[in-house]
Amino acid sequence: MAYEHILGHTRPIAQLERARQTGRVAHAYLFHGPAGVGKERVALAFATALNCAGPEPRPCGACDPCGKIARGVHPDVRLLACEAEQVRRGLVEAGKTAPSSQIKIEQLDEQSGFFRHAPYAGRTKVLVVVDAERMNLHCQNRFLKTLEEPSADTLIVLVSAQPEALLPTIRSRCQALAFGPLPRELLAQHLHQARELPLERARVVAAMAQGSLGQALALAEEGYLEERDQLVQGLGQALEGDLADALEVAGAIGEGREARERLETSLGLLELWLRDVMLCGLGVNPGQWVNQDRAEELGRAAARVDPARLLGWLDRIREVRASLKSNANPRMAMESLLLAMRMVSA
Ligand SMILES: [Zn+2]
Repeated sequence: MAYEHILGHTRPIAQLERARQTGRVAHAYLFHGPAGVGKERVALAFATALNCAGPEPRPCGACDPCGKIARGVHPDVRLLACEAEQVRRGLVEAGKTAPSSQIKIEQLDEQSGFFRHAPYAGRTKVLVVVDAERMNLHCQNRFLKTLEEPSADTLIVLVSAQPEALLPTIRSRCQALAFGPLPRELLAQHLHQARELPLERARVVAAMAQGSLGQALALAEEGYLEERDQLVQGLGQALEGDLADALEVAGAIGEGREARERLETSLGLLELWLRDVMLCGLGVNPGQWVNQDRAEELGRAAARVDPARLLGWLDRIREVRASLKSNANPRMAMESLLLAMRMVSA
């Protein structure tokens, strides 16, 4: 992993590189910021730079250590992640019971040899803790001991989107580096180039992803735009057609396998769509809209629906989201939402 392959984050990367080049690398870092923005990629690139045997600028991406780290087989660079995450990445097979989403104390104990031994390749051992907030309290307390007795040849990088779930004593022993959301246009250009998504559509996905590359790639994959288009069309039918149409639309979203997940996605899309209709009606600059590729339709909707009614709809959506959390039936939830929206629009 070389720095060129990382999107954005020039500031934290420059800070890390300055530390490396002046021999002032901290014993422990806490990389914090939203999920999916590339914190772990930067941690791995930094671990690679520290162990690269090629010429500066490092990492060279061509030497033996660079290759081994990229393949995940370098003995001095390790990732520590909960079992559920390891299963998700295909590193271990799922067992009979659901994999744990906590990093357990036993997992940390397994690293004790890693901390004790000198680095095999003679440079810096690096342990990257993925989603460090998943360490349970026992594990965090044990981890604190590791941080209290740092060894000169070991670097620990905690990666977390929820640093507030870490003990304050852990946080205070790490040098914190903040990773912000990726700029929308940078994400859009990346999707356009790497995924060959037309730029206009890439911009919509980028806006929806709220600065997370992971989220943007998932959305691009999942056909979010098609789903949105269907949903908006269905919404028009449900609100303007007769009652049977509304019930049919509710059934299409709220029935079958994974209905709950689908409904949650649909509600998210709907919320963003209605928010855009409102922004459009209020004359807000299109640069602020999420669904920039559907300007014409947004304009038509904004001319038909007044902001007070939109606010009523958005309230209803929020209520349905809350009811889903307390296990409401997805089909019934969608039906009641569409019926309530029809009433608000009557
Ligand atoms: Zn190298």
